[in-house]
Amino acid sequence: MDGWTDDQFFRTLADMTTVQPYVYVQRDLVEPDWTRLPGWADVTTEQWESAQWQRAHCVKNLRQLRSVLGPGVEERFFTDLERDQAERATMSMLLPPQMLNTIVPHLAPDEAGYTDALFADPVRRYMLPVFSDRRTDWPSHPYATRDSLHEHDMWVAEGLTHRYPTKVLAELLPTCPQYCGHCTRMDLVGNSTPVIDKLKFDLKPVDRYDKMIDYLRATPAVRDVVVSGGDVANMPFKNLEAFLARLLEIENIRDIRLATKALMGLPQHWLQDDVRAGMERLATTARQRGVQIAIHTHVNHANSVTPLVARATRAMLDTGIRDVRNQGVLMEGVNADPHALLDLCFALSDGAEILPYYFYMCDMIPFSEHWRVSVDKAQQLQHGLMGYLPGFATPRIVCDVPFVGKRWVHQLAEYDRVHGISYWTKNYRTSIESDDTSALDRRYEYYDPIHTLPAAGQEWWHQHTGPNRAAQHDAAAEAARISREAAAVQAGA
Ligand code: SF4
Repeated sequence: MDGWTDDQFFRTLADMTTVQPYVYVQRDLVEPDWTRLPGWADVTTEQWESAQWQRAHCVKNLRQLRSVLGPGVEERFFTDLERDQAERATMSMLLPPQMLNTIVPHLAPDEAGYTDALFADPVRRYMLPVFSDRRTDWPSHPYATRDSLHEHDMWVAEGLTHRYPTKVLAELLPTCPQYCGHCTRMDLVGNSTPVIDKLKFDLKPVDRYDKMIDYLRATPAVRDVVVSGGDVANMPFKNLEAFLARLLEIENIRDIRLATKALMGLPQHWLQDDVRAGMERLATTARQRGVQIAIHTHVNHANSVTPLVARATRAMLDTGIRDVRNQGVLMEGVNADPHALLDLCFALSDGAEILPYYFYMCDMIPFSEHWRVSVDKAQQLQHGLMGYLPGFATPRIVCDVPFVGKRWVHQLAEYDRVHGISYWTKNYRTSIESDDTSALDRRYEYYDPIHTLPAAGQEWWHQHTGPNRAAQHDAAAEAARISREAAAVQAGA
């Protein structure tokens, strides 16, 4: 600048960088050394990079976890985990080695402080929840439900949710290569747990897919299909390709989004030759027909973004698909601060060519109160993200409001901060409201976690849920009982 010495100029530049609330530093991605874990001390790079090896060595229970982590972990961790599995977990345990390896990446289990680091680890806190993570005052919100977004209510064919005017969600399968503790689709996805009996699809997959395709052919207003599950990485690729090829033949379908957390949890899957070749065939057909295919993944913490994730993303971009985007979930103890979110966004953008797209507020499922944040905090986090990333890569924090859909967190119509109730409006009808004349005039409610409210608000909830409080808190157990009774009635019928 005119009149400035070089020294002044560079000092000002340095000040501008260091005085910011968030200091950007470009970081290299790191694949943590899996041989630090006793159970994988002899695993070779070739084995590690094999999707078959990863799938065969997923950790599904305490015995397998103990055997991988070895004797260095203090017993209090396993006791806590076991209690959670028995009394709280809505998802069963399933971690591919790739994911487990990103938990406490800097220590071996026999090093000092490992057990404390394990308790504190952000990836562990949502992939391997323990009982002491959860709240004891309000473990579930009184209005928490198994299908908190009412996706089943909006099924127009089994597994096909039509909520927005132009787009649908196709749940092709109810399994994933990894199970996340906070899964919104805990009602359907994964194996039953002691507190949650999972719903089952009635139809055979082939019949379900036929009905989905029939609906989409007959509904020209739909142009956009989120192909999900579960996780499409658990579908035999030839079946996924066949379904997508049928979608690509439907004139009205212009956007296809493939939902796969496995791009991060099991990147080895997307690096397989047959998968890459199949994706290339699909991308070529899509391009010829003017259709956009993108992958949407689900990464919640920077530690999960490793060189293998970057390789898998590059392999997918090389097939010619339009983009790879991230939809994370905002969770207390995992990523609910601006630094953690920005670290993650920069790891995704700089290191792995993944576009930060959304952060969802964690949904109101049973036993999720310790993860959920208030709308007020979500608004502050959105504010904290602004200005650091390019506009196109600045993720929106969204609240998925029951019976409404995704809303940017600043879009609420009214906010009662004392009782933690926000009111939202919408500008379209869902598929179950075609005859509802007041659907667009109504206000729809969303609830903050009660423990985040001022004392007056907490007291109000205590009084208003008073006599039934215990039962309401145990919403998951209650929901499981109802689903067991319904199954018994069906079996008897
Ligand atoms: S990958 Fe997605 S669908 Fe599967 S358990 Fe995790 S959140 Fe649920």
